[in-house]
Amino acid sequence: MSKTIILGGGMTGLAAGISGGFPVYEARPEAGGICSSYYIAPHTTQRLNQCPEDQEAYHFELGGGHWIFGADTELCQWIERFSPLKKYQRRSAVFFPQQNCYVPFPIQNHLGHLNQEVSGKALEEICSAAAVEPVTMAGWIENRFGSTLTNLFFGPFHELYTHGLWKMVAPQDAYKSPLDLQAVRQGASGKAPAAGYNVNFVYPEYGLDVMARNMAKVCNLHYEKCVSQIDAEKKLISFKDGTNVPYDFLLSTLPLNQTVRLAGLNIEKEDPYTSVLVLNLGGLKGEHCPDQHWVYVPQSRSGFHRIGIYSAVDSSFLPGSYRHAGNHACFYVEKSFAGGARPAQAEVEAYCAEVIKELKQWGYLKEVEVADPTWIEVAYTWRLPGSQWVETATERLREKNIFTAGRYGKWKFQGIAESLRDGFCAAEMLHSF
Ligand SMILES: Cc1cc2nc3c(=O)[nH]c(=O)nc-3n(C[C@H](O)[C@H](O)[C@H](O)COP(=O)(O)OP(=O)(O)OC[C@H]3O[C@@H](n4cnc5c(N)ncnc54)[C@H](O)[C@@H]3O)c2cc1C
Repeated sequence: MSKTIILGGGMTGLAAGISGGFPVYEARPEAGGICSSYYIAPHTTQRLNQCPEDQEAYHFELGGGHWIFGADTELCQWIERFSPLKKYQRRSAVFFPQQNCYVPFPIQNHLGHLNQEVSGKALEEICSAAAVEPVTMAGWIENRFGSTLTNLFFGPFHELYTHGLWKMVAPQDAYKSPLDLQAVRQGASGKAPAAGYNVNFVYPEYGLDVMARNMAKVCNLHYEKCVSQIDAEKKLISFKDGTNVPYDFLLSTLPLNQTVRLAGLNIEKEDPYTSVLVLNLGGLKGEHCPDQHWVYVPQSRSGFHRIGIYSAVDSSFLPGSYRHAGNHACFYVEKSFAGGARPAQAEVEAYCAEVIKELKQWGYLKEVEVADPTWIEVAYTWRLPGSQWVETATERLREKNIFTAGRYGKWKFQGIAESLRDGFCAAEMLHSF
């Protein structure tokens, strides 16, 4: 019988491992990948992988708050085998700190919140956009939303979010910036209905850590097995601990560029990616801390582009004794970097101090009890216009019986729900061999 193995115990690898019954090899001592939750007690620095019994800890996630979007009834039922789910309705906005102005998300459907001149111009430009096919994301945005809204929000936001790549990468993820002319017109003079892919979301009642841990229990998961080499000729995986595992078929959920390198392939013209530094913060809430689940920020002195407020989604992210008074809050703050340009420890510390100062000035935070950064090496993946790197890499790996799945394996933007579905499909496909 042929032997199939899976690399990576994040959501994709866990889903594939559960539905296919194949062994999964994970580098970390925990399952869940970048969605992994962890806990830190106030005024301490030690990360705990489970909520302490007295519940006196902030609940964070490695990659910042991970809310599950786009899960249909069947997928929710599947997830509920591992954890009950709670439902939420999105509250998010664009925040212009200099004007202290919040415009509900998506901004194009809420032009009435801007001054009349700006909103009138933006509306006119959006409604008169010519049907052209721009080559870059910047061209696509400007063509779709016009120069007024691009200069005001989309441009500076994407400059931060893509770390400048929006001017050279191909347009992608159109559904993240929906355009419905009727809703735009409605929002310019009144109230438009909620729009976008994340209007509703669910989250495991006891945290993503409990969901991932329960998934791992029914999965043949091997922890602390960090792959150091894939010998694609001998069909042998080597781990950093010196052990090896043979395979006939391999499913890698690692980022595509890493799988290519581990397998010793040389595929030129790699598509770019951005890394993200996620800063998790907990402490006394400032007087102007918004009630939004997250805000998009086109200008910030520290260079971050999004702040999420875990405790605005659910007070259970706060230490138990803080949950009812409403005096505390916990946040995730995201800043993008050029792919792999990891700052030195001293720079990270200086950045964290700067973010805290800025959030205090904005009135989001009064006093910090916990500040904990995480570096996400491959966070957002991009394609250069006309690039065939993903297709070539995928094909060359397939020739060696190496298959890829998940957000990073496939090098495309997707959330947990799609990553779980990817895992199911990959397992089904591997069963057919
Ligand atoms: C900043 C940010 C915010 C996000 N927010 C949301 C959100 O709110 N909602 C949502 O649905 N999605 C969100 N996502 C997307 C979501 O994180 C992904 O869709 C999902 O986590 C992908 O899971 P995965 O298993 O494919 O990848 P990963 O979680 O990256 O799993 C890959 C696994 O491989 C392991 N691994 C890596 N290298 C090795 C090695 N050499 N050997 C062995 N194992 C290895 C890793 O430890 C990891 O466990 C967000 C992503 C980012 C970057």
